[in-house]
Amino acid sequence: MPHDHLVGDLSDTTFDVIVVGAGSTGENVADYAVRGGLSVVMLESELVGGECSYWACMPSKALLRPVELASEARALPGVSVGPLDVEAVFARRDAFTSHWKDDSQISWATGAGIVVVRGHGRLTGEKQVVVDGVTLTARHAVVIATGSAPALPPVEGLAEAHPWTARQATSATQAPGRLAVLGGGVIGVEMAFAYQALGSQVALVERGERVLANNEPEAGRRVLQALRDAGVDVRTGASARQVSRDGTVTITLDDDTTIEADEVLVAAGRRANTDDLGLESIGLTPGDWLSVDDTMRVEGVDWLYAAGDVNHRALLTHMGKYQARVAGTVIAARAKGEQVTGAWTKHAATADHDVVPQVVFSDPPLASVGLTEKAARAKGLDVTTVSYEIGDTAGGSLYADDNPGWAQLVVAGDRLVGATFYGPGVTEMVHAATVAIVGEVPLQRLWHAVSSYPTQTEVWLRLLDQLPHG
Ligand SMILES: Cc1cc2nc3c(=O)[nH]c(=O)nc-3n(C[C@H](O)[C@H](O)[C@H](O)COP(=O)(O)OP(=O)(O)OC[C@H]3O[C@@H](n4cnc5c(N)ncnc54)[C@H](O)[C@@H]3O)c2cc1C
Repeated sequence: MPHDHLVGDLSDTTFDVIVVGAGSTGENVADYAVRGGLSVVMLESELVGGECSYWACMPSKALLRPVELASEARALPGVSVGPLDVEAVFARRDAFTSHWKDDSQISWATGAGIVVVRGHGRLTGEKQVVVDGVTLTARHAVVIATGSAPALPPVEGLAEAHPWTARQATSATQAPGRLAVLGGGVIGVEMAFAYQALGSQVALVERGERVLANNEPEAGRRVLQALRDAGVDVRTGASARQVSRDGTVTITLDDDTTIEADEVLVAAGRRANTDDLGLESIGLTPGDWLSVDDTMRVEGVDWLYAAGDVNHRALLTHMGKYQARVAGTVIAARAKGEQVTGAWTKHAATADHDVVPQVVFSDPPLASVGLTEKAARAKGLDVTTVSYEIGDTAGGSLYADDNPGWAQLVVAGDRLVGATFYGPGVTEMVHAATVAIVGEVPLQRLWHAVSSYPTQTEVWLRLLDQLPHG
């Protein structure tokens, strides 16, 4: 193997575990497997740290945090805020991505005892992965942690117009004069807020009648209003029919209206990063998401695991890391012949099913966990919902003048199954709901979890007071 591909010691080509993909998930699988006493090689074709560190969570939130802080400050009398220093915002973003260098992540990984190889891994058969012409063999497991990639919708002329994906949106060095965003999901919404605040005139095209379709409808409506209040030209119920670039980008919508922009960002979903992974060599289909059980083992292949975005359970860094802890621990346990235990133990990613927390860093943010009302009803649960304006609590009114905050609980029987918080400062509020759902805390007990006065968490009492079990 050429020396520049070899970050660690590759004197041996047989390892207990081969991890393909060193994003936040792969790194954690490897770490937990090493801690479990196994030898691990981790392959990475681009940068150790993956999307989250360089082209997703960290750079996008580095762009959005100043936007959120400035908005909060602007909403209070007595606090003076100037315009955003756009150059400084981009410079801080660059620091958070370590200027797209992975030296520190590599030294962490090698320090943790993981052998790191830079190269593209492909399965060639049972427990075998080829990287750069060298065949590696796993004694116990191969873990696929190759993540996801942006999906390009079949819109005429879109590919030829060289659209931005999340990668360009998170690594751009300046804000385009006009930015068109296709898709009103999390990435589209977050980037629309970011670039509008950084000086672009943003237009956002969303097929549905509101943005963030996977969240509670009321939350989606409020985020839509906030986008419009920020100056974003949001076109709902609209789809792009054709895109062309001739100096500027022209997007023709299905009602024949057009949007002119300097750049167009496609934020229309993700696809599995499995098309060039050799899946066909083991009877699986390239391009498919890898379906797994709760131990992260790929259905039907007892030595193959898939964690993170690639298994399509929950495309979020924290859920990938959670799955990674499970996968690494399970692989080590199985290697030692230990019994693998069931739900809600360290051997099963039980929370994947119904207790996934997510923060959308809109301005203001939206934080949720568990089931929406619609999802709970679809599961046949007998559901009650209660909601409350956070601004009508003492803490909420102090936190922000004209606080637009709103919260909702979804309850089945005497248990919380879902919660949504929207408004300034709610990002840290959702974890209490996560704990209550995971802990299956009965509502009559939750009622005794007293919120501090005057904080926005007072909304919990107002919500619980509306429920019979409260
Ligand atoms: C703009 C944006 C913002 C986001 N913000 C958030 C957020 O705020 N919070 C949150 O929780 N989630 C966020 N996400 C989602 C989050 O980025 C992903 O869930 C997370 O990065 C998935 O991690 P992963 O390890 O599964 O995959 P990845 O991070 O994609 O890592 C996979 C790695 O595998 C490598 N690889 C692929 N194929 C091979 C191969 N054959 N051989 C070797 N290496 C290979 C890739 O180069 C990559 O480094 C965001 C996503 C985007 C796009």
